[in-house]
Amino acid sequence: ERLVSSATNIEESTIEQSLRPQTLSQYIGQDKVKSNLSIFIEAAKMRQETLDHVLLYGPPGLGKTTLATIIANEMGVNIRTTSGPAIERPGDLAAILTALEPGDVLFIDEIHRLQRSIEEVLYPAMEDFCLDIVIGKGAGARSVRLDLPPFTLVGATTRAGALSAPLRDRFGVLSRLEYYNEIQLENIVERTAELLDVEIEDKAAFEIARRSRGTPRIANRLLRRVRDYAQVRGNGIITESLAHDALELLQVDRLGLDHIDHKLLRGIIEKFRGGPVGLETIAATIGEESHTIEDVYEPYLLQIGFLQRTPRGRIVTDLVYKHFHMEIPRE
Ligand code: ATP
Repeated sequence: ERLVSSATNIEESTIEQSLRPQTLSQYIGQDKVKSNLSIFIEAAKMRQETLDHVLLYGPPGLGKTTLATIIANEMGVNIRTTSGPAIERPGDLAAILTALEPGDVLFIDEIHRLQRSIEEVLYPAMEDFCLDIVIGKGAGARSVRLDLPPFTLVGATTRAGALSAPLRDRFGVLSRLEYYNEIQLENIVERTAELLDVEIEDKAAFEIARRSRGTPRIANRLLRRVRDYAQVRGNGIITESLAHDALELLQVDRLGLDHIDHKLLRGIIEKFRGGPVGLETIAATIGEESHTIEDVYEPYLLQIGFLQRTPRGRIVTDLVYKHFHMEIPRE
């Protein structure tokens, strides 16, 4: 399990739940998404209608689940949570939909992983708040329409492109979450420190923020590890030097890169003179699956401009040589 992974596990999600902001004003950053949502929410409330269906997309750990919860809070309704892979049969979804109270938010995480046959149950539910169910079999089978309470579907996905067009088109609000900047992450670290009742210097919060890969989940995780270190090695207060030492010990460098990123980047430099090199070749060299590299390792390296995708393969940029204090090779 990587410390800088943006994925989560069950144990961590319980902790995360207690750290979740409850209102839009407590939610740090994502200003465009927030201001749009607050207008739509207010308008829906004024008209006493449900909010339009919302699709949240963007990399993991940026706060999609948190935002879904906030939408429900702000609308003053309940939230039901499920995920694409958890819904195995059309009947599972029908059961969830018929159990909704009027106005409820239904949150479907990883919505791109819904099976097509299940998606088809969603279409009339989203559009007309009804369910078409088939009763009987063979020649005697007939379709019955069942009314559903009006509800708001909030879908979350890391891959908006993987969503089928008919499903995507049924969302009235499409909001893309962006990586957070260092100042926003510093604010998140300070907020979490307050909730965890731990004292932290501003500079220490910044030190954690800049190593968090633009991701609140990672920021909160690093903070918890640094807090442990401060408890054992110091007097519990997180100072800048203590945060620095702890993060060095945890092998998270000043850009949030860990040993796996280093292995990948150095591998391309040392074995392929910086590239271009194909994804499959990189995968074989560092002993990883190519899709893991593509989905997990690469996105942040591409985002910070350390890797570039070209038609002939991946290349490392000059930034990487500078980061490693290596001489930039001449053509
Ligand atoms: P995934 O898609 O992997 O489920 P996610 O995008 O839904 O991830 P969340 O679970 O909502 O991410 O957020 C991860 C953690 O980061 C939570 O503990 C949450 O409290 C914190 N967090 C996320 N966004 C913010 C924010 N804008 N302000 C404060 N804390 C945040």
